[in-house]
Amino acid sequence: MAASDRQLLEEMRFQLTVTRAMLGTAELDQILYIILSGITHGEGLNFNRACLFLGDPERRKLRAANAVGPVTGTEAERIWNEIEAKHMDLESLLASYHAAANDPRANTLTRRLAHICVDLDLRQPELASLGGRVDVDTLVAHCATTQEPFCSNTMRAVASAAPDDVGTEELIFHPVACVPLVRQGRVLGVVLADNAFNRRPIENRDMQGLMTLCNLAAISVDQAHVHSRLRDFAEQDGLTGLLNRRLYEDRKAREVARAQRSGLSLAMIVIDIDHFKQCNDQHGHEIGDQVLRDLAAIFRRRLRREDLVARYGGEEFVVLLAGGIGRGEAFRIAEELRRDVERSSLGNLPIGEITVSAGVVSLPADRLGSTPIFKLADDALYAAKGEGRNRVVISEVL
Ligand code: GH3
Ligand code: MG
Ligand code: MG
Repeated sequence: MAASDRQLLEEMRFQLTVTRAMLGTAELDQILYIILSGITHGEGLNFNRACLFLGDPERRKLRAANAVGPVTGTEAERIWNEIEAKHMDLESLLASYHAAANDPRANTLTRRLAHICVDLDLRQPELASLGGRVDVDTLVAHCATTQEPFCSNTMRAVASAAPDDVGTEELIFHPVACVPLVRQGRVLGVVLADNAFNRRPIENRDMQGLMTLCNLAAISVDQAHVHSRLRDFAEQDGLTGLLNRRLYEDRKAREVARAQRSGLSLAMIVIDIDHFKQCNDQHGHEIGDQVLRDLAAIFRRRLRREDLVARYGGEEFVVLLAGGIGRGEAFRIAEELRRDVERSSLGNLPIGEITVSAGVVSLPADRLGSTPIFKLADDALYAAKGEGRNRVVISEVL
């Protein structure tokens, strides 16, 4: 067989393996893992590293969602030696998602980029005006807004360290490629890939492979979004339209895994209506139900789309704040919710008649596995009730 035929056959086999793996799941995190593994595996596109920035189209922001590859040269050597020793082919690698997702060593690049949030509405400088150096944010925004791929063997894309990561060096992507995931004219995300460790120049063939994979990825990511929205809709709480408890538990497990991977803390607020039995007794159940609906609307209005808001019990709500919300910020958000309720007319009752109490906790990622986060928030809620209600108490446990 001629070398070019063999190459073509290998490319087709690669596309088939990745397509099969993607069709086998509707789970977003697993799809991201398949995309990134396909970009970096030797039988795939063979890039040194790959990172995925995913967006919320309505908010016009892209966040670093997942990344695969080494951060340092030493790590690069270790990973490549391990892969060689294991002889893991692409198909087996794609099938080992659950093991890989739980390997903290596999997540160093994800953690290193977790603070990056690209605002597509911020004015970005022209790439041509930047010389040989560009911020990762600028490059990703450029790719997303132009909906065009970008590739350079001379330009360096630089990711700064997180603001509180003192002593951490910036990360340099070079040679670098950047491709948007576009579906029906909408940008769902951007893939950034590089060859920082072996410096292999990125050629047309590499870009074609990357663009084909990103087209497929866009379809899968879009399907995963649709699947997740349909499930939310089917299983939402009938009265308030919030997540029901079962669906919430499911989504919470996913958020905990994500936080552990990215190293970002997770915060929880548990909220309970004050003297709600009395409200029902005085005004009737119908009004009580309207109070619950109005309360849910207040929560949704104040919180971000990516926050989980659930009706956990009859008149008890849980909010899960992802994306590294710390203690102070979590307390401020809970306090805003409490104040919004206090200043609103719920169920057409006089302003101030309905109040809520809340318990808050924020846990660093490395404590999530071992600490009962709900119990801590619920204990804080109990303390808020004990201290006279209509207040927020934050758990003393770090
Ligand atoms: P506290 O301030 O200590 O929380 O007092 P409370 O009266 O709110 O607490 P308690 O747990 O004693 O009562 C909760 C009440 O919530 C009992 C029930 O009538 C009411 N409730 C629970 N689910 C619903 C619902 O779906 N609709 C209505 N209208 N009321 C509900
Ligand atoms: Mg209650
Ligand atoms: Mg109550």
